[in-house]
Amino acid sequence: MTGDKTIWINGVWELGSEPGLPVINPVTEEEISIVLSAGHDQITRAIEAAASAQPAWASLEPWRRAEALRAIGACLLQHQQELANLISLEVGKPLRKAREDVEGAASYLEYMAQWDRRIEGEILPADNRDETILLTRVPIGVVAAITAWNYPLDLFIRKAAPALIAGNTMVVKPTEVTPLACIRAIQLIAANDCLPAGVLNLVTGGGAVGAALCSHSLVNMITMTGHRDTGKRIMAAAAANLSRVSLELGGSAPAIIWKDADLDLAADAIAFASFENTGQVCTSSERILVHQDVHDDFVERLVERANGMRVGNPCDDVDLGPLVNRTHFRKVTHAIDLAQTEGGALRCGGHGIPSLPGNGYWVRPTVITGVTQDMSLFKEETFGPIAPIIRIASYEEAISLANATRYGLSAFLFSNDYRLIMRAQNDLRFGEIYINRSMGEALQGFHNGHLESGMGGEDGKHGVLKYTQIRAVYHRYT
Ligand code: NAD
Repeated sequence: MTGDKTIWINGVWELGSEPGLPVINPVTEEEISIVLSAGHDQITRAIEAAASAQPAWASLEPWRRAEALRAIGACLLQHQQELANLISLEVGKPLRKAREDVEGAASYLEYMAQWDRRIEGEILPADNRDETILLTRVPIGVVAAITAWNYPLDLFIRKAAPALIAGNTMVVKPTEVTPLACIRAIQLIAANDCLPAGVLNLVTGGGAVGAALCSHSLVNMITMTGHRDTGKRIMAAAAANLSRVSLELGGSAPAIIWKDADLDLAADAIAFASFENTGQVCTSSERILVHQDVHDDFVERLVERANGMRVGNPCDDVDLGPLVNRTHFRKVTHAIDLAQTEGGALRCGGHGIPSLPGNGYWVRPTVITGVTQDMSLFKEETFGPIAPIIRIASYEEAISLANATRYGLSAFLFSNDYRLIMRAQNDLRFGEIYINRSMGEALQGFHNGHLESGMGGEDGKHGVLKYTQIRAVYHRYT
């Protein structure tokens, strides 16, 4: 893709006018591509194109917008292998999981297409005779979408599908770390004429391009997935124009393994929730609070599962590929080393796998016991394949430790005590709680962070309605 035109404005491809950023293969540390960045003029023109196209797009019959979404889904599926190859190459994700990402994106488009006949208004009784009040839902306008690197195609579609079905237009800025699958998807959308010119626009580049989008007065809403600190910067920039924000940020999910839990079920679920995508999932279980009565038994089962996972080249039949880049590798390996210095015991895993290519960012599924609240591993999102185990003795201790974070995205609980489950459901301060199962959201659910994990939320009814605003119309008919 080096040298490709990666800026798409009003249906026309352009070369980025600013220097490019390299995309690195995390298996070999070789450069896959250089993606040129959008210049200021290009960012402005992309936003203006979205603003010009918006009224016509909003006045199309909704089923026509649904047809466009379905056409995009069909395109993605037709090119499933090609897109999966790109995702696997840039993220380091096992190929079969990258194929699932493409299927997931197509299902998402189909689900959101079905909202064409479901965005409803309300009729209210008025205070005056011969008057009716209508509440209708109208689009917000121009939406800027900014994505993170861990699910490059899905995060783009998770924003574009609901925003477009609701009648908004969009400027997308994919992550600079793994932009290729998103760029290719938009090339396919363009080549197949899935959308009218200007409805979707693409600008590539890093944080500076994102910041320029966020501070433009024609951008009515910013929908972003990424780090908490970036979310705070975006919110501050949005304040200048009072643009709406929807921020899907990080997490530090607790998982409570109560003494009556089905330990095999819990170990399977936590192995997936801690190590899937090499731990690079916002809902990953990052603090595992295990009741002292079952602590050793649970740890043994988790270690067995961790040791059974295959780490290696994403093209092979493996469970985990490498971490995404060197910066992240340093952060995760430092977290593993520091945890041991601070008193934790490495039960399995760690970094450095001699049989794998020397430059890959390899970290094995890692279990660390003896973790306490004052250790760094407890406090911050590590976003790596690490399962930190904390021993607990009571319900109160479990809840207090689970809630001891400024994040509020997801939490897990394993128990068969119905009363304890119902209590915990109320006591845990998180937006997404998994009881006796691993992570993984439903299309019709609601993936939303409380506290510093963000605001807005995605999926389902609430995930589409957030791209609308309510207009109240007072009808007098005397
Ligand atoms: P990041 O915040 O570094 O980057 C995210 C995006 O923001 C990138 O496109 C980047 O270019 C852009 N950006 C950076 N500075 C900006 C600025 N000042 N203004 C506007 N845009 C700017 O995050 P990341 O490292 O790509 O992603 C990892 C984080 O994402 C983790 O914390 C993870 O938990 C979170 N995440 C959350 C969810 C969720 O749904 N809640 C999903 C996936 C990832």
